[in-house]
Amino acid sequence: MDLGLYLDVTISVYLKCPNPLKISYLKNIMTPSRKLWKLLFVSTPVGALGTGLGGGVELTLYNVAQQMLHRGHKLQIVAPVGSIWKDIPIIQIPGNLQTIAQSQKRADGIVMADNSTLANMWDYVREIECDYNLIVNFAYDWLPFYLTPFFKKPIAHLVSMSSLSNAIDEVIEKVGKNFPHALGFHSSYQAETFSGSIQPLHILSNGIDIALYDFCPQPKKQLAWIGRISPEKGLEDAVALSRKMNIPLKIMGKLQDKYYWQKICRDYPHAPVEYLGFLSTKEMQKIVRECSALLMTHRWVEAFGNVAIEALACGVPIVSYRRGGPKEIVQDGKTGFLVTPDSITDLVDAVSRLGEINRYQCRQQAEMEFSLEALGNRFEKWFETILALEIKI
Ligand code: UDP
Repeated sequence: MDLGLYLDVTISVYLKCPNPLKISYLKNIMTPSRKLWKLLFVSTPVGALGTGLGGGVELTLYNVAQQMLHRGHKLQIVAPVGSIWKDIPIIQIPGNLQTIAQSQKRADGIVMADNSTLANMWDYVREIECDYNLIVNFAYDWLPFYLTPFFKKPIAHLVSMSSLSNAIDEVIEKVGKNFPHALGFHSSYQAETFSGSIQPLHILSNGIDIALYDFCPQPKKQLAWIGRISPEKGLEDAVALSRKMNIPLKIMGKLQDKYYWQKICRDYPHAPVEYLGFLSTKEMQKIVRECSALLMTHRWVEAFGNVAIEALACGVPIVSYRRGGPKEIVQDGKTGFLVTPDSITDLVDAVSRLGEINRYQCRQQAEMEFSLEALGNRFEKWFETILALEIKI
C-alpha cells in the first residue's frame, strides 16, 4: 500500500473515534516525511530512577521517553542499577553513584568515584552507540559533555540545572561552540546563567501527563511545599511563613540532607508543618490539590521547577520567589504570585492575596502550555534539528 493511502486509511479509522484531539494528533505526526529514530537515553548517575535522588530529571526523562515511544520511535534507557520506571525497560549499570553537583563549590574540581556508575554508563554507551541514531544525555556531569567529540553518534545534552561549577560551565560552553544544537535547556533564565555565547538556544520547558492530576476547586486552608529537602531549595522560608501565619504546611519530597532538615525542625519547633515523605505522583497530587497554594522558596536559580506545573495541573496557584524557571511559568497575579527572593514578608503578602486567583485558570495554563504532547513536539523538533545536521555532514 502506498504511504498516502495508508495514512488516509489510518486516519479514517481514527475518525470513527470521537476524540478530536486524537485526530489532530494523528494528522500532526503521520506525515509522509516523518522519520522514526532509535534513541538512547542516558540517565543521571546520582541515583536510580524511581528513588527521587535525581529530582525533576526522573519525571522529565520518563515523560519524554513515553512521548517518543508513543510517536513510534525506538528507545532504550541506560540508568544506575536499581532503576525501576513503570513500563519502560531499562539497562541497569552498576557502580558507585556520582556526588550531586549542587553539594559542591563553584571552584571545586571534578570528582569521580572508584568504580563510577557515571563512567560505567558511558563505557556501555560507547559499546552500543552504533545501534542508535541519537544519544540523549540527562546527566548534569562533566564527563558526558567532555566525551561529546569522541562519540560517533551525535549527543543531545539536556542541561538540567543552572550554572553551578566553573569546570562544568567550561565544558558546556565548549560543546555549545563545537556542536551548535547539542544543548537543550528548560528555561531561558536557566540558559542565561551560562556564557552568553551559547547559540542557538533550545528552550524546551517541560510537560506532564495532565490526566494524572485531578483538579480541586475548593482547597483547604493549608499550603504545600514539594522538592528535595536540600539547602538550595530553601525549605526553611516556607516553614517560617507557616509559623508566622499559623497555616499548616504539607511537605513532600526526598530527604536528601537530613542535617539540614533536623536544623529546620530545631529552629521552628512550633511550626504547624508535616513531612509526608517522598510520595508517588498519585499520592502527591492528592495532597497538593487540596492546598491553597504551592510555595517555591528556592535559593538557587531553579532551572525549571516541575513541581510548579504539577501543582498548576491540580488548579493550585504558585507563590514563588522571582528567581529562575518559575519566573517563566507563573503568570504573576493570574496563576500565582512572584515575590522578592528571600523575603518572608512578601511571601506573607502573597499568601494573603490567594483569594484573587481563579484556580480554573491554573489548570487551564497547565493544559495549554505543559501537556505531554507539547513536550513531545518540542523534543522531537530539537532531535530533528540535530539529526538533520548529521545528514548534511
Ligand atoms: N516528587 C515526587 N514525589 C514527592 C516530591 C517530589 O515524585 O513526594 C518529584 C516531582 O514530581 C518532581 C521532582 O520530584 O518531578 C522535583 O523536581 P523539580 O524540578 O521541582 O526540582 P529538582 O529536584 O529537579 O531540583
